[in-house]
Amino acid sequence: MLIGGAVRNYRLARDEGICRRYPAVARAVLAGASGQIRTQATVAGNLLQRTRCPYFQNTTTPCNKREPGSGCAAVAGVHRDLAVIGTSDACVASHPSDLAVPLAAYDAVVEVRRPDGAEWTVPIHDLHRLPGDTPWIETVLEPGDLVTGVRLPPPPAGALATYRKVRDRWSYAFAVVSLAAVLRVGAGGRIDEIRLALGGVAPKPWRLWAAERLLVGTRPSDDDVRAATMTALADARPLPDNAFKLDLAADLVAAVVRDLRGAQP
Ligand SMILES: Cc1cc2nc3c(=O)[nH]c(=O)nc-3n(C[C@H](O)[C@H](O)[C@H](O)COP(=O)(O)OP(=O)(O)OC[C@H]3O[C@@H](n4cnc5c(N)ncnc54)[C@H](O)[C@@H]3O)c2cc1C
Ligand code: SF4
Repeated sequence: MLIGGAVRNYRLARDEGICRRYPAVARAVLAGASGQIRTQATVAGNLLQRTRCPYFQNTTTPCNKREPGSGCAAVAGVHRDLAVIGTSDACVASHPSDLAVPLAAYDAVVEVRRPDGAEWTVPIHDLHRLPGDTPWIETVLEPGDLVTGVRLPPPPAGALATYRKVRDRWSYAFAVVSLAAVLRVGAGGRIDEIRLALGGVAPKPWRLWAAERLLVGTRPSDDDVRAATMTALADARPLPDNAFKLDLAADLVAAVVRDLRGAQP
């Protein structure tokens, strides 16, 4: 399925094909922003929105993303909502998009047109760059590149999927931690296929590849799922006020996997 880059978020969430085949996408869009904003926000704009780090928006404070070389005020400052993995000493900002998270779980591919008309594609996993020493370069897009669409491969046959967002308010709040999960259970209740992508924890949607490898073929307990999640987050570099996100992510994955397994026909 191809979603146009200029499709408004509210239309995407109401699309019959999206709701039926990619329910985690519809749920994620409806979990984002407010009804008013969703009528204007576009698919491409949502993926390419910039961080909500408070220092990025406060021009009186140092911020390497806004002003290269000025420092990162968040490391010693307010960072509760920022990233715990994929960060660098230069920047610990998290990516705010809800939509990007299920797109990562569904292995979406972003279609791009160059100013000269040349077309190319990039997997959603590679669209956003990690900050490293150059946090102001956030994606692999070049100036003038236009995102024309997002292509979703067919979802795994017989799989159930969902998106769950932990946030400080029920509406109009960015994710503290969120999860898109796609899961299919096979014979004997073993997991045949599982895809897990976290939001709110990294500078890009964060696929839990290691956890998926550990869980496939098993009938995991909640503790097994938590342990697999922690393994996938082993490279995390949490700061004092956001270390809680690791336990929260593990609990969220365990709860969603349990619910999806319980909901299998
Ligand atoms: C108060 C508030 C709360 C919000 N809460 C959430 C939330 O909880 N979850 C969430 O996911 N989002 C949230 N958002 C983001 C919102 O949903 C929009 O996606 C976001 O504001 C981007 O707006 P837009 O889609 O109009 O893109 P724009 O603001 O128009 O564009 C954003 C960036 O993308 C670039 N761009 C746009 N289209 C293209 C294209 N086709 N090709 C290349 N570059 C392009 C623009 O140049 C710009 O740099 C919130 C926004 C606000 C203001
Ligand atoms: S975390 Fe990134 S965006 Fe926030 S202050 Fe540091 S450099 Fe700037």
